[in-house]
Amino acid sequence: MPDTSPIPIVPSSSDLAQCVRCGLCLQSCPTYVQTGLETESPRGRLYLMKALAEGEIEPTANVIGHMDQCLQCRNCEAVCPSGVPFGRIMERTRAGILEGNSSPFSWRLRSLFLRHVIAQPKALSIFAAVFRLYGRTGLRTLVERIPGIGERALLAPTMEGRPFTKSGLLARPDGEVRQRVALLTGCIMPHAFGRVHRATVRVLARNGCEVEAPPDQVCCGALHAHNGDLNTAMDLARRNIDVFLGAGVDAVIVNSAGCGAAMKEYDELLAGDSEYRDAAKRFSTLVKDISEFLVDLPFKVPSGQVQATVTYQDSCHLAHAQRITSAPREILRSIASLTLVEMDRPDGCCGSAGVYSLTQPKMSIELLDEKMRAVSDTKASVIATSNPGCMSQLESGLRRHGAPGEVVHVVELLDRAYPDR
Ligand code: SF4
Ligand code: SF4
Repeated sequence: MPDTSPIPIVPSSSDLAQCVRCGLCLQSCPTYVQTGLETESPRGRLYLMKALAEGEIEPTANVIGHMDQCLQCRNCEAVCPSGVPFGRIMERTRAGILEGNSSPFSWRLRSLFLRHVIAQPKALSIFAAVFRLYGRTGLRTLVERIPGIGERALLAPTMEGRPFTKSGLLARPDGEVRQRVALLTGCIMPHAFGRVHRATVRVLARNGCEVEAPPDQVCCGALHAHNGDLNTAMDLARRNIDVFLGAGVDAVIVNSAGCGAAMKEYDELLAGDSEYRDAAKRFSTLVKDISEFLVDLPFKVPSGQVQATVTYQDSCHLAHAQRITSAPREILRSIASLTLVEMDRPDGCCGSAGVYSLTQPKMSIELLDEKMRAVSDTKASVIATSNPGCMSQLESGLRRHGAPGEVVHVVELLDRAYPDR
C-alpha cells in the first residue's frame, strides 16, 4: 500500500518554533502597516497560530478574522532572517480550521465553490460565460453603482477579451527547436486573459520553443491550498504531475505568478505521499515563470520598440514566493523606447491576493488605493505585472480612479516589441 497519508492539518512545531519574534517583518506586512495592530502582523498571527496548534486557544470568530485578513502575500517570509515558512504555516492553519467543527460557513462555501467550479473546467466555462454576459450587457456597470456592494463588484475580474481555448500543439518555431515546453493554461486565466496566453505562445515560438498545452491539465490548486483545502490541492497536483511529466517537455511554463509558486511547491505539498514524492520533486524543478525562463534561455532582444512609460508591479507570488524580481525588469529594459519608472514599494501587495479582494474588500481597496497613488506618481501610462489577479485588481484600480492607462503582462510588452507578430 502506498503511503498517501494526508498532509498534517496543523503547522509543524518545528516550523512554528522558527519565529524568534524579532519583529523585522512588521513593516513589510501590508495589514500591519495599514492597521498598526500586532494581531494583524506576521508575528502576531504566528503567535495565534502556535497557540491554536497547541490547543491553548480556540478558533473563535475573532481569531479566524485575523487569519482571514492575511493576504498570504508572503512579504513577511521574504524578509524574515529566521526563514519562517509563513505561507506553509498559514495554509496548514487554515486547513485545520476548515476541517474542524468551528469552520465558518463562508469558508465552507468558498471551499465548495473552489472545488466544484474553479477546479472543474466545464463548470468554470459556464460560470465564465455567464460572467462575460454580465459584463457585456451593462449589468455590471449598474451593480458597480449600487451603494454597499458596488465597491466589491468593482473588484471582480472582467472577462472581456477573446478566451484562449486551444490545447495540444500550439506553436513550432521557424528554425531549430531550442526547447520543448508545455504551457500551464490554468483556470481563470484562459477566460479572463486569453490574450496573455497568445502573447506567451508567440514569444516562446519567436525564441525557438515548441509549445504545447497538454489537454488533460487541470487548475494548479493554489487557490485551494491558500484557502485551506489541501486535499483538493494535492489531488490537482497529482493530476498535473502525471500530465506534464507524461508530456516529456524541457520546462513547464507559467505566466501566472500565483500558479507558478504553487507548482514549484508541489514537492512540499506531496512530501508525505510516497507514490508521488519523487515525481513531485522532478516536476517542481521543471516549472519556470515565463520571465525567468526567457532570461535563462536567453531571449532574443527585440528589434522593435514600444513607446511607453511603464511602471512594474511585482506580483507577491513572483517576488516573495519565487524570489524573482530582476527577470521581468530585464525584459522590460530590453525594449527600445520603453521607459521603466519604478513606483514607490513596487513589491507592496495591490490587495488582489486570489479571492481576498472579494472576501476582504475593505482592506483590499485600501491597499489598491495606495497602489494607485504610487502608480500615479510615476506618470506611467502602462502598468506591467506578472499575475492575472494583480492585472485584474490594477484594472479595477484604474476604473475606480477614472485614470487612463493600461494594465499588461510583461510578456505582452515583449510580444509587441517583436516585429511581424
Ligand atoms: S516571522 Fe521572522 S521576521 Fe517576523 S518576527 Fe518571526 S522571526 Fe522575526
Ligand atoms: S503573508 Fe502578507 S499579510 Fe500575511 S502576515 Fe505575511 S506580510 Fe502580512
